[in-house]
Amino acid sequence: MTETTAGPVRDRLLDVRPGDRWLVAVAHPDDESFGCGSTIAHAAARGAEVTVACATRGEAGEPAPGSPDGDLGTVREGELRRAAARLGVGRVELLGYRDSGFDGDPPAGSLCAASVPEVADVLRRLVRELRPDVLLVLDGSDGHRDHLHVGAAARAALQGMDGGAPLLVEHCLPNSLLRRWLQEMRSLRPDTAYHALDPATLGRDDADITDVLDTAGVLDRREAAMAEHRSQASPFDGLSPDLRRAFLVRDHLARVDVPGDRA
Ligand SMILES: [Zn+2]
Repeated sequence: MTETTAGPVRDRLLDVRPGDRWLVAVAHPDDESFGCGSTIAHAAARGAEVTVACATRGEAGEPAPGSPDGDLGTVREGELRRAAARLGVGRVELLGYRDSGFDGDPPAGSLCAASVPEVADVLRRLVRELRPDVLLVLDGSDGHRDHLHVGAAARAALQGMDGGAPLLVEHCLPNSLLRRWLQEMRSLRPDTAYHALDPATLGRDDADITDVLDTAGVLDRREAAMAEHRSQASPFDGLSPDLRRAFLVRDHLARVDVPGDRA
């Protein structure tokens, strides 16, 4: 437990200690590395016992050139397990949904074919079993429906949970950083669809960010984890060294108030 009857309450996000428990809920293999890998590595390096719960095996992903042969879901599950180990994650749970893909009717058995309450029940069972101090999710501001679905399910899972509810934290890409990214993309690749993007809609409003973690000390773990996802193109490939570093050595987080929790 992180709270004591004597003394001040410890900040479970910023003051990570050995034996703390973190649950990271993501939609696809690679979200844990390309998304919130630095935050996971940061917590694990401080001794937290981290579990990654991944809703799908990422079957609808786009195989990168030179991707390993074989069934994509099997390949990506292997990548997830190896990447998680690189980040210091102790346990990986596959929740057994299929990847919903970007659009169209969600296929039978896919994450988005399940209702938010159904997925919330699955997450709530994991929370009751693992008793995490922190529940980390992606904020879904990239608009992928599977990312949004996991975030909504995480909020629903904690709603009304009395006592012992973990602190819910969203990993965000701030609008200011994505404006820099867009500017660079437009100058590097002037003939592409990047010109159609509205800078105002990118990522998360900077005002929502509650915490910024300096994760430079775990950059090597993050890089090693990302390199395991050979079947997927890295979102950071081709960026200038300065911008790439800006994405990788500082993580932006937003604490979420969930009615009924005691975070
Ligand atoms: Zn994803």
